[in-house]
Amino acid sequence: IARKRFGQHFLTDPGVIDAIVRAIDPRAAQPMVEIGPGLAALTQPLVERLGRLTVIELDRDLAARLRAHGQLDVVESDVLKVDFTALRATASGPLRVVGNLPYNISSPILFHLLDHVAVVQDQHFMLQKEVIDRMVAAPATADYGRLSVMLQWRYAMENVLFVPPEAFDPPPRVDSAVVRMVPLPQPPVIDVKHLSELVQVAFSQRRKLLRHTLGKWLEQRNAAGNFDLQRRAEQVPVSEYVSLAQSTQA
Ligand code: SAM
Repeated sequence: IARKRFGQHFLTDPGVIDAIVRAIDPRAAQPMVEIGPGLAALTQPLVERLGRLTVIELDRDLAARLRAHGQLDVVESDVLKVDFTALRATASGPLRVVGNLPYNISSPILFHLLDHVAVVQDQHFMLQKEVIDRMVAAPATADYGRLSVMLQWRYAMENVLFVPPEAFDPPPRVDSAVVRMVPLPQPPVIDVKHLSELVQVAFSQRRKLLRHTLGKWLEQRNAAGNFDLQRRAEQVPVSEYVSLAQSTQA
């Protein structure tokens, strides 16, 4: 029986499960970590190809069932408390991270993994389609916002699969999709907390010109420079947010 507080919606459509596994393309012996394996709909086809798989599951009963499977290393924990850098230290290479995520904590999970991006090879996540639209959005669109900037400066991302509610039991109330996230090979050197603060201020009132929001913030740092404040937050490309963060960080 699905537990609502854990955001449990179990994949049941074999065609969708197969399409996700093909998008992930697991190869024997690759170090992979699955978040929220649940009843093992994805876990089983993945581990058949990998040989072994680390799974992180918060639900005690589900974790107990998973432990009975001989090929899984089960971490019974809240994924937000898992140190992926420590997991990498005992693995044979950078981690591939996958999962049909609990939608109620998808942003916190994405930001937690951003802290550990240095040990990650790639990520494939099932999320609300609306969230993926925001992750991959281009500037000057309604979906472009904090999530777009905070992830695009660090990952190349694409929506690889649309998944309708009927693919799950129980069906969620929203459309879903699968996103592929690959860390950029030469990311800008930046203080993430500082970029996050800047982007939050910029998008705090999306309808207003930046001189009303970011203007004051930059003044306090004596740093307006030649940044054009006669724009709205959604008109500024990721690269400009990054350079502004670099030129204003302590
Ligand atoms: N992967 C399964 C599938 O596709 O059928 C289940 C997906 S279900 C949307 C989300 C899973 O994440 C559930 O198994 C739930 O118990 C687990 N979960 C929820 N919150 C979690 C957390 N904070 N840390 C780890 N797992 C969590």
